[in-house]
Amino acid sequence: MRQKLLGIDLGGTTVKFGILTLEGEVQEKWAIETNILEGGKHIVPDIIVSIKHRLKLYGLSSDDFVGIGMGSPGAVDRDTNTVTGAFNLNWKETQEVGSMIEKELGIPFAIDNDANVAALGERWIGAGENNPDVVFMTLGTGVGGGIIADGNLIHGVAGAGGEIGHMIVEPENGFACTCGSYGCLETVASATGVVKVARLLAEAYEGDSVIKAAIDNGEGVTSKDIFTAAQAGDSFADSVVEKVGYYLGLASANISNILNPDSVVIGGGVSAAGEFLRSRIEKYFVTFTFPQVRNSTKLKIAELGNDAGIIGAASLARQFITE
Ligand SMILES: [Zn+2]
Repeated sequence: MRQKLLGIDLGGTTVKFGILTLEGEVQEKWAIETNILEGGKHIVPDIIVSIKHRLKLYGLSSDDFVGIGMGSPGAVDRDTNTVTGAFNLNWKETQEVGSMIEKELGIPFAIDNDANVAALGERWIGAGENNPDVVFMTLGTGVGGGIIADGNLIHGVAGAGGEIGHMIVEPENGFACTCGSYGCLETVASATGVVKVARLLAEAYEGDSVIKAAIDNGEGVTSKDIFTAAQAGDSFADSVVEKVGYYLGLASANISNILNPDSVVIGGGVSAAGEFLRSRIEKYFVTFTFPQVRNSTKLKIAELGNDAGIIGAASLARQFITE
């Protein structure tokens, strides 16, 4: 009887695994280091060995699983189950991820990009409350996103749909983005983006601030330091949070004015600032949305933390459930 799902969250430093029930309850989870040496050629074999080992440990076999789902960085081809250009894995050439795993484990396999998979996780079991219309943005080293509209992930013609991080929020004097454009949300709302905003605002700020002093002294400042100082009443740090809240409020309002989702869910490391950040974003979200959207779309902080990836990946495998 096939009654379990296996979710794999492939990242540049660790690969996380989860065994879930069909209802999304995590029964087992573990992680291994990602060995990116030699062009990342060990990654998929390591994953297969680890799964085989754990199945034996838990007294399970391939027949217990409906399917395996995986979230991966890079350009994911969902038809061939391959990944190309995942540079943090050293995968420059196309990797036959799905066919290798299916052949070795005999379990159906599905894959999507990591931000989309995290969006599916938050939508299914997390803050999205399994609503068919949920927008997810993750604020970490970069800004990722996933859009679920009418129950479907938006992929676009080239798989670049839902890349909220490249929405332009500062068209006049924006910072350069890794994508080649200027003023993308990612340049001002990722962990490094928040610090860039702080450096810029520090030039004109006059007054006492531990954060401004640290920046002027050339000391390392993190986005977490900035949020902590703002919550403790540092008015310069607070002006940085205000500016970041403006950018995120503008971006989430623009998405919502088009899609009118049930919720915009904000996750990733920067979202650890919680209600302090959410309320600041909401202030601008309310300003920039039109009434029907303002009164129906909710802004929420993500609930699943690091588990969003394995849960969302596992949810991809639900397509293999046959009644
Ligand atoms: Zn960009």
